[in-house]
Amino acid sequence: MPDLDSVLQKLDRDARAAADWGQVASYIPQLAGVDPAQFAISVVTADGRLHQAGDTHVPFSVQSITKVFTLAITLGRAGDQLWTRVGREPSGRAFNSIVQLEQENGRPRNPFINAGAIVTTDAVLGRRAPREALAEIIRFVRTAAGSEDIHINETVAASETDFGHRNFALAHFLAAHDNLTNSPEKVLGTYFHHCAIEMTTAQLAMAGRFLVHAPGLPRLVSPRRIRRLNAMMLTCGHYDGSGDFAYRVGIPGKSGVGGGILAIVPHTAAIAVWSPGLNRYGNSHRGTEALAELTTRMDWSIF
Ligand code: GLU
Repeated sequence: MPDLDSVLQKLDRDARAAADWGQVASYIPQLAGVDPAQFAISVVTADGRLHQAGDTHVPFSVQSITKVFTLAITLGRAGDQLWTRVGREPSGRAFNSIVQLEQENGRPRNPFINAGAIVTTDAVLGRRAPREALAEIIRFVRTAAGSEDIHINETVAASETDFGHRNFALAHFLAAHDNLTNSPEKVLGTYFHHCAIEMTTAQLAMAGRFLVHAPGLPRLVSPRRIRRLNAMMLTCGHYDGSGDFAYRVGIPGKSGVGGGILAIVPHTAAIAVWSPGLNRYGNSHRGTEALAELTTRMDWSIF
């Protein structure tokens, strides 16, 4: 087996030598200003050791990656009841598609597209105030990462609130189909805030340890739930690029428009990669390339 540290150093060099970094997300003004030419990768192996290369101390907006944590919390609170409101199928559509939600009568395809995550956020909220639900989400993430130094960037949350017209449209559609128990404004306020959590790749890889399912790593949910969260990440974690990610990378992963990806090699490792430029599906371009190379070199595909 090749030496993991040498492989990570090479991935960092290759990323920096690349001509094409992809395009940063422009629909959230705070993210539009981020320099795309950045790269970081952190891997926690089953023995608990952290291996990394690149800009691993730069915090970035994890965005949709928080949907993994909110799904874990929601399944803990609502159990299988959640699946009456959200499906478990890949969407084959853009992350913020409105047309599919209308066609399917307000039941989102899965909890990782925006409409599904808005429903999940509504379930996490229950009858609570947003700050209580957000405190639970942040507590979960900090516990998972073993770090108290993880925060919400209020400016990013405000930027999304001001420009999140599609998300407001989705939330109102959900409300029109009786699939929200709170007002669209209250749910989206909570949703935008948890999407605006910032982490470094080191913190994110640490936060992903609970999904690896290895002795000695933190255990926050049952083994059955770990399998199911990984299954959702594999089939739905990269929007309409999920099939291509499974084909090229071969492990469960969840991306965010901030350019981060959390990927899990079951029983073996948690990986966080970040490079802000996105490919045409809205997933990190250099991050995806690096993961494809990493799983090939380390023979980490689950297939
Ligand atoms: N906060 C982003 C949105 O709702 C999340 C999307 C993503 O990371 O893919 O548009």
